Amino acid sequence: MQKIPEAVVAVCRCTQNKLQYGVEFQRVDAGTWRAQWAFPLSLKEAKFEGFDTTRIEGNIVYDPHFNGCLTCHEKGFTVCGSCKKLSCPSLDGEIFHCPWCGASGRVTYGKIAFQAGGDY
Ligand SMILES: [Zn+2]
Ligand SMILES: [Zn+2]
Repeated sequence: MQKIPEAVVAVCRCTQNKLQYGVEFQRVDAGTWRAQWAFPLSLKEAKFEGFDTTRIEGNIVYDPHFNGCLTCHEKGFTVCGSCKKLSCPSLDGEIFHCPWCGASGRVTYGKIAFQAGGDY
């Protein structure tokens, strides 16, 4: 069985200006991850650390001190239906435009599964 790490870093992008940042998630239990904080992270660093490779799945809860998207300050996430990458939740009306692959569509809510980083 695949080991589930205690904490992961996911690479997230703002849907408004495509700015990239990292978000640290702590594992609460097997199916729940708590967003701890968002911090600046360059694409180069993300690749170096392997933050863009591992995939986690489950429900997301938010730490009371979670600072939200670094640029638009929205708290929450949207996961693209096509590329499964993470972005912040600010929308153009009801339509989501993926800052990673450019796909757009209506937002559906449910269990979240996205590309994140492994142990660190
Ligand atoms: Zn944002
Ligand atoms: Zn996408």
